[in-house]
Amino acid sequence: MGDKPQKATAFVDWYLATVEAAGLTDKRYPVKGMNVWTPYGFRARRELDRVMVREIESAGSVPVEFPTLIPQTEFQKEGEHIKGFDAQVYWVTKGGESPLDVPLVLRPTSETAMYPVFSLWIRSHKDLPLNVYQIVNTFRYETKTTRPFLRVREIHFFEEHTCQVDEAAATERVRSNLEAFAAMAKAFALPFVPVRRPEWDKFPGAFYSVALDIPLGGGRTLQIGSVHHYRENFSRPYQIAYEDREGEQRYVHQTTFGLSERLLGAIVAVHGDDKGAVFPTSVAPHQVVIVPILAGGNAEMVGTFAAGLERRLSARGVRVHLDDSEERPGAKYYRWETAGVPLRLEVGGREAAAGSVTVVDRLGGKRTLGPAGLEEAIDGALRTYDQQLYERALTAFRSAFSIARRLEELGASETVRLLSWCGKESCGRAIETAIDGSLLGTPEGELPIAVGAPGPCLVCGESNDALWALAGRPM
Ligand SMILES: [Zn+2]
Repeated sequence: MGDKPQKATAFVDWYLATVEAAGLTDKRYPVKGMNVWTPYGFRARRELDRVMVREIESAGSVPVEFPTLIPQTEFQKEGEHIKGFDAQVYWVTKGGESPLDVPLVLRPTSETAMYPVFSLWIRSHKDLPLNVYQIVNTFRYETKTTRPFLRVREIHFFEEHTCQVDEAAATERVRSNLEAFAAMAKAFALPFVPVRRPEWDKFPGAFYSVALDIPLGGGRTLQIGSVHHYRENFSRPYQIAYEDREGEQRYVHQTTFGLSERLLGAIVAVHGDDKGAVFPTSVAPHQVVIVPILAGGNAEMVGTFAAGLERRLSARGVRVHLDDSEERPGAKYYRWETAGVPLRLEVGGREAAAGSVTVVDRLGGKRTLGPAGLEEAIDGALRTYDQQLYERALTAFRSAFSIARRLEELGASETVRLLSWCGKESCGRAIETAIDGSLLGTPEGELPIAVGAPGPCLVCGESNDALWALAGRPM
């Protein structure tokens, strides 16, 4: 136990060890930053995708899929965008033996793949809004240290792209995306704060960007997604225009909403503990694992009861796994704890005879359920577990922020700091130097902790227009 990294004292090493021990990915693939999704990891990802699809489709988005390769000529139409991605793209320059006339980019994101086609799809106001999404792999030549799920070169990416009639409608789509994300985050038990990024840190080509940030403890933050308002910044170069009701030609206003496998990394990082991963039931590949305890003459009765219980729970839609492998029960407990399974059902001779189970949840609770209403009681135990997991995460979230009233308080902060900022870049840069991290931007909507009105800017002392801003150390 001694050499196992602890979450509180060696966070990054703990994260890497936890992902590895849970069996979510195989990092031995011989291309840096490109991980293999194992059967267990793939199932977690599939559940994650299901939640995203459910929420975005109820917000009126429909699925599409565009090609992976983008011609250089399309990729370079919007100047800011290309500047932002130039150093990060993979190029395809040959087809077989022959150099390609037009080199192709492996999509780092799909604006430049979709927008030439949107300009063909959209003709009239009747074609709007256009709300589409895809879940595809994107590629970025990441130069920093790669880490499974958090910083990778082949990314499992969710991207929504929309075209709206005007700026106000696009602003409304941003709001609707934030609402959809709040529902997803609730399902993942991940409290977050939407933060409008400063000008120098927005998405390349965006009018503004709202990042979805979570605190990871120790003053660290992780961006787990983003929503962008593009105004006409892409629709002009890509000629995405429509005829309005008066017969006038107008450019659409666009938005995007991006999420990725980082959410899975965030779930491990936020909920995991020194025993391993801890999954909310929405994402857990196995919500319930049944461990039969076979001893002496009751093996057959225990086996029959355990198999019947698996069938009954499965028929109710519970993702249940019966671990009837040869391992000792203790080894199974350890394995499924490490893998983050919400509920473990222990079934021995006494339980099988009574028709009950001993339930141990991943947060440490233990109780006997059944025989009456056993399936309903297990459903209830799953709901209670999710609630407790969310409350635990919310407590950690609230204690991860604190107010800084003077610039000198920022150094070596163990919390994400809430501070007054006038909005000027020079003051923002001074804050970044002081905290040795980033000015994340200004929170949208409710602040993560209760505070009064903002005071004067921490750097220049200007009071007019000063807003609450967040500063921390992004992972
Ligand atoms: Zn200032």
